[in-house]
Amino acid sequence: MLLEITTTHQPTSDLGYLLHKHPDKFQSFDLSHGQVHVFYPELTEEKVKFCLLLDIDPIELVKGGRNLSGKGFALGHYVNDRIYVASSFMSVGISKTLSSALNGRCKDRPELLGVKMPFEVKISVLPAPIGGAILIQKLFEPLGYKVQLERHILDAKFESWGESKYYTLYLKNELTLQELLTHLYVLIPVLDNDKHYYVGKNEIDKLVARGGDWLQEHPERKQIAERYLFNLKSLSRQALERLIEKDGNETAEAGIVETHEEMVKRKTLHQKRLYKVVEKLLETNAESVLDLGCGEGKLLRLLLKQKQFKKITGMDVSFSELKKAKDKLYYDDMAPKQKERIQLFQGSLLYSDTRLLGYDAAAIVEVIEHLDENRLKSFERVIFEIARPKSVVITTPNGEYNALFPNLKEGAMRHSDHRFEWTRKEFQDWATAIAQKNNYTVSFEPIGEEDEQYGAPSQMGVFSYAS
Ligand code: SAH
Repeated sequence: MLLEITTTHQPTSDLGYLLHKHPDKFQSFDLSHGQVHVFYPELTEEKVKFCLLLDIDPIELVKGGRNLSGKGFALGHYVNDRIYVASSFMSVGISKTLSSALNGRCKDRPELLGVKMPFEVKISVLPAPIGGAILIQKLFEPLGYKVQLERHILDAKFESWGESKYYTLYLKNELTLQELLTHLYVLIPVLDNDKHYYVGKNEIDKLVARGGDWLQEHPERKQIAERYLFNLKSLSRQALERLIEKDGNETAEAGIVETHEEMVKRKTLHQKRLYKVVEKLLETNAESVLDLGCGEGKLLRLLLKQKQFKKITGMDVSFSELKKAKDKLYYDDMAPKQKERIQLFQGSLLYSDTRLLGYDAAAIVEVIEHLDENRLKSFERVIFEIARPKSVVITTPNGEYNALFPNLKEGAMRHSDHRFEWTRKEFQDWATAIAQKNNYTVSFEPIGEEDEQYGAPSQMGVFSYAS
């Protein structure tokens, strides 16, 4: 589904500042069930058009076990409109890519925040319940929008089948960008009629409070709040919850003033890294896995989702990180069968530990750079000589790539606790020597988008014991 936002406000470059999106760039971001692409197909001195294209992956949706539309239709789980319509996934896309604009932040040009601009919006396509056209008008007109709707027929070849429930929606209004985005963010899922779940009353109150003045004063506020929350719960609960979750413990890169785009990039890079590690571990056929330096347990959460892993162990030197991991895994509330699969304990990678013996694989993700270089020999002994899992996956930043971080001074590191950030050669030399000495083979892979000169932001070595 496609959201197009056009304005004739001048200078047209103002829109890019407000959206925190560079007009010359085509950018893509990962969602839990697909991708969102943002780009500007039109930019002249008179007019600028910004697009947000949602590309939902139907396989991921089914894999995610989403309870999809199609009740009473046996194949509804696989054959449904979710990938074509603007639903709560559109709200996820908006908040994932445009969160500064949605929250009314504009670091470079704060004076633009209050500027009302003439906007034209096109949404292709919206599903609407019975009486859809009237509902759409009732939702948008009180907010000052001129509404125009194009209803699509069910099948152009069979006109007698009549009209579908799908509309292309055109809106016109003069308002601030933040107002526009919050309206769309709330009202798009309101129109989606697919599932109904019970939602507690206080959640409705919270939305009304968060929706700001416009929602409080909207004549349809009750209907909006109820429908929004029902649909939100049903379709993208996990995705939205993950977004709303305030992730204060994200390993922020010290000393760098991050732009919103950089922050999104870093988060998606870490997700990519974790998914890649899971993929590698699955390939090794491992059934028992150690996550060493597990931090707050992001990888553990992904490992638990894979049935292949029967025994999953997280270890970290930091007690407070382990406590966070326990909370985030909802360990205390886990079903007994799940609980049996996972354990957490405090320990250090620098001291030999019998609890690390007997595992098929170990993942050590963004940890080695936290160890003093002169202690790496102990690390090597503990993992490769004593614990000796059949496979070891290690990731670490690629220091060469730092040249591409505009705010990072030459020679500085991404995180204040990093003791080193190796070049690709330094990492490969170190890893190859360890492998040779300990009877492992090792192969390397980049993680993240590769730059021709500097490589990818992160790097991975996959070791296999050559029995
Ligand atoms: N692997 C996690 C966390 C990376 S941050 C992730 O990718 O999200 C680095 C982690 O390594 C921190 O949680 C830190 O407490 C842990 N750590 C640092 N030194 C360690 C050591 N000697 N032994 C075990 N864990 C260590």
